[in-house]
This record gives sequence, structure tokens and C-alpha cells, in this order.
Amino acid sequence: MNSLERSQQLRDLHQALTTRNGRSLKFPLDLETGFQESYARRYHAHIQLAGLLGLIALVATAPWDYILTPSIAVVTWKIRIVASVLLMTSLAYSNLEQSLRHQQLLITLNATVCFMTVLLISECHQSPLRDYYAEGSILVLIGAFVISRLQYFWGKVTATIMAVCLALHLLMMHADAELATIQVFVLTLGLLFALPGTYLMELSLRQNYLQSRLLNLEHKSLEDSRLQLDILTSTDGLTHIANRRSFDAALEQEWNRQQRAEVPLSLMMLDVDHFKKYNDHYGHLQGDECLRKIARALAGFARRPGDLAARYGGEEFVLMLPGIRQDDAEELARQVVETVANLDLPHAGSSWQKVTVSLGVASMIPIPGAGPDQLILRADDALYQAKGAGRNRVCAYHYTAPPESSGG
Ligand code: GH3
Ligand code: MG
Ligand code: MG
Repeated sequence: MNSLERSQQLRDLHQALTTRNGRSLKFPLDLETGFQESYARRYHAHIQLAGLLGLIALVATAPWDYILTPSIAVVTWKIRIVASVLLMTSLAYSNLEQSLRHQQLLITLNATVCFMTVLLISECHQSPLRDYYAEGSILVLIGAFVISRLQYFWGKVTATIMAVCLALHLLMMHADAELATIQVFVLTLGLLFALPGTYLMELSLRQNYLQSRLLNLEHKSLEDSRLQLDILTSTDGLTHIANRRSFDAALEQEWNRQQRAEVPLSLMMLDVDHFKKYNDHYGHLQGDECLRKIARALAGFARRPGDLAARYGGEEFVLMLPGIRQDDAEELARQVVETVANLDLPHAGSSWQKVTVSLGVASMIPIPGAGPDQLILRADDALYQAKGAGRNRVCAYHYTAPPESSGG
């Protein structure tokens, strides 16, 4: 996602939080998809726990059918077996990744199975036992609404299914008034608490989701701005290669690194020949364009990790080459001179009639006591020699020991 899209999303999220969307139980499509996915992942373990508890309750209470009313145990156990198989199938399915997409439907189906089981078993018993069994429907409500975390919409669907199932069951079984009253009461009161609960819980989860998305995006935008700032402070505005500031830092770093490794560090210093005349003749804007082309050509020689081409200032450039010996650096410098000459940038004030550059090359194995300044001074010295020797050429720095004092 680019920064434009990100700021658009930031605005949308701000709007969603501050307008009706933030308090609504339905987001725009992409937000809704993200919310549903995070919700399903967050409560994945809950649905499994609720299913497992339902299974345990079905199996653990089975012996009581036989202890309390042995004559009906065969029927109720059959009901329990069918319900357990359905629950186990749903538990196995909930382990699959694709189950996340219809997790809420799965909870509703499980709740329906458990609810029907409770109704059927209670009907098999005689009063007052069946009244106690009927109250098991409150456990189904807790399992579905509280543990499985049904959302409000699916809560309403589940409530409707339960009400219809109960009505059909009471009618078909010709249940007596006492049982019907108890079961209708239990369900109505249970739903009276459960449904507003799911509404409030979902609302606050949706607001949390919006807040966390907002924080995430703001964090990313901040990171983008920091990167942008890093680029701005380390790049030269005219030529878009590294600036003096980042060159100084890189040179210091490479100097220390090469000192530990005891390998040479080479530096080329490049100066455009007769550039003042170029500006005077072609104008400053054309001069700028010429500098950009030379920078691009020089940057093409920074080929290995650690190599760095930078604008040192004005019409002077540097190329730092860690791990390169002086004669290899000299050879590369000659290629730079050739490459710039081959750009064929017309220069009426030059004896070659085109833009040329002079290069000074120096190479040192960083030694304790010396510093990167010494390498710069040497490259600068070599550049001065190249200018003195007629320009459009390379000169390398050669160390000459100071003359020994004769001592009289
Ligand atoms: P030499 O061959 O001895 O290097 O001669 P030179 O004319 O290039 O040397 P000098 O240092 O006298 O001139 C450098 C010129 O570079 C002067 C300045 O106008 C020009 N210059 C420095 N920075 C820029 C820039 O950003 N854009 C343009 N167009 N010109 C620049
Ligand atoms: Mg200069
Ligand atoms: Mg110059």
C-alpha cells in the first residue's frame, strides 16, 4: 500500500470512528472482512471449548437417565449419541482453516443441536425431572452466547431458531401447560439477557478493531515519514546521489571497518574541468543538468556493497571504494574519465570541446593514529596534480617521505 492509499484509509478510519459507522454493527466491505477474520481467529478457541463442554455435558449426564428413569434410557441415549456425533463432526470441522469463514453459522448449528437435544430428553422424562432437564436450555444459551461469542446478528438468528424449535416441539409433543410455561419462561428470560449482551460486546469489539487499525496505519505513516526524512537528509537535492553528510558518515564507518580487517580503502575525488566557463557560456541551469549527468555516470561505478558515490560540494564528487587497491582504483578512475568524455557534452570553453573531468585517487590501509581526513587530503592532493598536469586525466597520490635533516 503506498502512502497516498494509506492516508486515504486513515481518513476513512477516522471518519468511521467519529461517525455512525463507529457505533454501527456493519462496516464498509473491506473493513468488515478484516473485522470478521480477526474476530473468527480471536474466538476460534472459544467455539471449540463450548463444543467440548457441550459434549462432556451430554456424555456425563447420560448415566442419570438410567439411574433416575431406567425405562427411558434407551431412547435418551440414542438422542445423546446422535447429538454427540454431530458435535464431534462440527468440532473436527472447526479445526480446518476454511471453517473460520462460517464460524458464526457453525455456532448457531451447534446451539440448535444442543437445544433440540435438551428439549427431546426433557420430554422423555416425567415431571418434575423433565422440568429440571428443560432448564438445561439455559446452559445451551450460555455456551452459545457467552462462551462461543455469538455476534448480535447470529444471536438473533439463533434466538429465532430456538423460539421456532420450542414452539414446534411443544405443539408436536402436546406438552402440558406446566412444561410449556417453564420452557418458554427459561428461553425468554435467557434471551432477554443474552441478546443485549452480544450487542454491547460486539459494539465494543468493533470499536477496538477500528482503533487498532487506526494505530497500525498511523504507525506505518510515521515510519514512512521517517524513511522519507532519512532519504531527504542523506541525498543531494540536485543530483540525487549521496550528499556530503552521508559520505562523511559512510567514510568514517568504512575506515573503522577496514582498519579492523586491515584491507585498503580507496577514494576518488572528481572535479569538473573549467566548469565556471561552462556556466558562463551555457548558463547555470544547463550547468545543473551537466552535473546531474556526471553524477549518474559516476554512480554507475559504485557497483559493490559499500561503494559510495557522493556529491562532495559544488562540482566536486567522490567515489569511495572499500577493499580496492590503489592500482585497481586508478584503473577504475581512468574508466570514469573516459565515460564522462564519452557523454559528449559540448563545452565551448574546453580545448577538448566537450565536458571533461579530472580525478585524484588515493588508497590507504587504515592505521591507528590516522583518520579518514588523511585519505581525503591525499585524494585532493592527487586531484590538484591532475589539474596541474593538464586536466582530463587521473593522478594517484604517491607517498614521498619528508627529506631527512642533514644535521649540519
Ligand atoms: P577547474 O578546471 O580548475 O576545476 O576550473 P573550474 O572553473 O571548474 O573551477 P572553479 O572551482 O573555479 O569553478 C567551479 C564552478 O562550479 C563555480 C560554480 O559556479 C560552479 N558550481 C558549483 N556548484 C554548482 C551548481 O550546483 N550548479 C552549477 N550550475 N554550477 C555550480
Ligand atoms: Mg572545483
Ligand atoms: Mg572544476
